[in-house]
Amino acid sequence: MRHTTKQPRANRTITVDFQNEATYFQLLDDRKAFLECVLAFILSIGFQLTHKTTCRGGGCLTRPSHYVRVRLGGVTIWRLQCTTCHAVFTVLPHFVLRYRSMRPEVARDALLATHGGLSLELCAVIGHISPMALYRLICALGHQSVVTVLTRCGLPLPTYFLADEKHSHCLTDKVYLPTIVQGQVLWHLGYTEEASAAAFTQSYQEFQRAAVDQEPTYRVKGVLTDGFDSTTKSMRTLFPGARLGTCLRHALLKLPKKLVAIASPVRKALRSQFHTLLYRARQRKGLRVFALGQRLRRFADHVATTAGTANGEGVRRWFQDKKAGWYAVLEDPQMPVTSTLLDQAHNAIDRKLFMMKGFHHPQGSQQAFLRGLAHLYNLVPYQRRAKHAGQCGVEVEGGTVPTRDWFLNLQILTSGGFR
Ligand SMILES: [Zn+2]
Repeated sequence: MRHTTKQPRANRTITVDFQNEATYFQLLDDRKAFLECVLAFILSIGFQLTHKTTCRGGGCLTRPSHYVRVRLGGVTIWRLQCTTCHAVFTVLPHFVLRYRSMRPEVARDALLATHGGLSLELCAVIGHISPMALYRLICALGHQSVVTVLTRCGLPLPTYFLADEKHSHCLTDKVYLPTIVQGQVLWHLGYTEEASAAAFTQSYQEFQRAAVDQEPTYRVKGVLTDGFDSTTKSMRTLFPGARLGTCLRHALLKLPKKLVAIASPVRKALRSQFHTLLYRARQRKGLRVFALGQRLRRFADHVATTAGTANGEGVRRWFQDKKAGWYAVLEDPQMPVTSTLLDQAHNAIDRKLFMMKGFHHPQGSQQAFLRGLAHLYNLVPYQRRAKHAGQCGVEVEGGTVPTRDWFLNLQILTSGGFR
């Protein structure tokens, strides 16, 4: 799949909304009106063009010093050039997808269906396209980095976030999807074939580099993990100053596994008591950490009396091992709590990766594919509750999207010519 490994060098394509096709074809014969329309659109979405680094640019200085007619499905495509730095921008009308003959309305339906969980094959049937074409479309969207797209929407880089990996399968291999989530938004969706700290660090580093590119002074204050060793190690390496917390909900899920050879009702009762303990610890501010230390000791004693000394000792050792991470969560009210979005997204993506296995190959583009899915997660309006009805994750987190049309937003935000 050549298009996935090729460097997207100086891609200065911009998608412009001409409202309808007839308008576009009328404007083709009127150079001045065409330019005015393009500039007005760029102004309306509040973006600027990516000029060459030496150029101050400033959108309004560009004019079509020359244009080239490229035949793409019979549609004439214009290029604009900056008179100062000579950067060339390809203007794609909203009804044309880059390098693709697929119609946007077909792509829109197929992407929505795939995001909604329908199999790739059935999504392809809906649009009378091949599953491979849909797969490639998602990969193409994934060429743009998630950090770039989110910061284009005005979202600040996350100072607190959740880092977790989905353990998944691709073909017959075990694979891992290192993920960074803040609120309703995925900031990173990586792909590694190993669960080592080195592999995770390399994946999370892509996020860190992209973030520092956007904001050289970027600092992370707090990270929540499930306590998996490779994750905490990679976070310490990449974000040395950050507070590292361990997820309390994972703790709750782990407790029953620490209790061996006891009756189920006893195990259930202990789990529910531990739940109350953690819940109350979160409620109390100020004295929370002190209160938790004391309560954990008492709880371990309680386990010893109800479930035997061996279980009591096991739980005590487990608390010793994990409590620093729980304290870190309680000490800072801004530390994120666990995210159901992440679990849902991970499960859906896992299924998708599995469904797409027929398309993957050793030099394949799993990473681009996953990034494309991440864009869909962030930009498709899916909020179920009335409060955020019709909004996408980016909007829920306070970001702004260029237009009211999610698919047009996807086209605009993943194009390379805007900054
Ligand atoms: Zn320029």
